[in-house]
Amino acid sequence: MPPLRNASSDPPTPASPPPSGPLPGERGGWEVVIGMEVHVQPRTRSKMFCGCAVGQPGDPPNSNVCEICLGMPGVLPVINKAAVEACLKTALALSCEIPRHTKFDRKNYMYPDLPKGYQISQYDLPMSVTGYLELDGRRVRVRRVHLEEDTGKLIHAGDKLHKARESFVDLNRAGVPLMEIVTEPDLRSADEARDYAVAVRTLLRTIGASDADMEKGQLRAEPNISIRRAGSTELGVKTELKNINSFRALHRAILFEVARQTEVLESGGTVVQETRGWSDAEQRTFSQRSKEFAEDYRYFPEPDLPPLELDAEWIEELRRALPELPGVRRSRLVSQYGLPTADAVLIAADRDHADLFEAAVAEGADAKPTANWIIGEVAPSGKLPKPGALADTVKLVSAGKITRDQGREVLAESVETGRAAAEIVARHGFAQLSDESAVQAEVEAVMAANPQAVADYRAGKKQALGALMADLKKRSPQANPKVASELLLRLLG
Ligand SMILES: [Zn+2]
Repeated sequence: MPPLRNASSDPPTPASPPPSGPLPGERGGWEVVIGMEVHVQPRTRSKMFCGCAVGQPGDPPNSNVCEICLGMPGVLPVINKAAVEACLKTALALSCEIPRHTKFDRKNYMYPDLPKGYQISQYDLPMSVTGYLELDGRRVRVRRVHLEEDTGKLIHAGDKLHKARESFVDLNRAGVPLMEIVTEPDLRSADEARDYAVAVRTLLRTIGASDADMEKGQLRAEPNISIRRAGSTELGVKTELKNINSFRALHRAILFEVARQTEVLESGGTVVQETRGWSDAEQRTFSQRSKEFAEDYRYFPEPDLPPLELDAEWIEELRRALPELPGVRRSRLVSQYGLPTADAVLIAADRDHADLFEAAVAEGADAKPTANWIIGEVAPSGKLPKPGALADTVKLVSAGKITRDQGREVLAESVETGRAAAEIVARHGFAQLSDESAVQAEVEAVMAANPQAVADYRAGKKQALGALMADLKKRSPQANPKVASELLLRLLG
């Protein structure tokens, strides 16, 4: 195997056209350029090359390990088909090309969380290349989606006072499958980078390739960031931020890094190419190590695994089985149901919510109020009602038969008990008074009970109306608030 020549830090890729259109994110004469690597744990039961369970955070340390993921001499890894399938589905959903031939390579380095002395990854023949993700009508080019294995975890403990420091190694994550989704440097602001990461998560969940739970470390973002003079076409020196595990941290870390680089360059300094970490406690990035180059890793084809020849028919099968993707569904929610784009974006971001929306509308609820209920009530609650219960609630509230507050209770109770909306309304005696003569009696009673507020209002203190409405709501929660306030205004006038 000849040594790799002219290897840069990034594996070779085909040339792609530059992004078109105006470049947002310019800042004081500087343009921000961000490329992103997103590391995702695909949804599999077992590890990448052995039968160990992928496990959960909190499992006893070193409980999901075997001779293969520990890299004992003489053992043979076996490729996990479910991981390959998740990677291919992701690549197809990102409109990537899938080469017929792919292979795994050894990336050699020594670190205590990597007892094998190498990580099995993919170098020059990744599982997919040149795709894109549509973001606000603009294409963010995806360079490649490939598969590799995760490393173990170091836990540094110890007592600062006595300087008795200890480090522990937990190898439960060693060998857990990871997909790496790499973009071209097409992102132009912290906002865009965060939106891209959110869109990737939505996509992964929609196609079922990963649960992408950031709290469990199933999705980590690694942006590389540089700045350049606006109008320049050359890339500046970039720094790479490692292992960012929340969208908020991603956004803040990029803002910090852009400000730091701007200050360095404006004071006549130079940005050093390096890997930096993000400290959430201190809200700043810090230098971790100077950037390695690919030749440092001495990549070579993994001798224990055969090259993979991907069956074209299998790829087509996976492509045909992909569900409607979030971007397509978003457009359809606008065109088919007349939803405002902002609502469609929120609803299409969660496949369960989008399914619920369409099912509830199919059961006769109007589209816009159904969207409002999903965005305003269902999404924050984190619980999914049955489509029929949501449809009935929306219909009852829209028709003025129950109040919005009662609607919330109906929905919550239907999630808890599975009862139908009509049954819950009957059990609680929920019913809204919309009949004008019935509401008028209530309004007159409130006015009689609050002569001072009535006098104040008539003397020009308009805020007295609020007190009267509040008392009305207390005495007569059934009264339709819209009918009541109209009547109140008429009787006061
Ligand atoms: Zn194992």
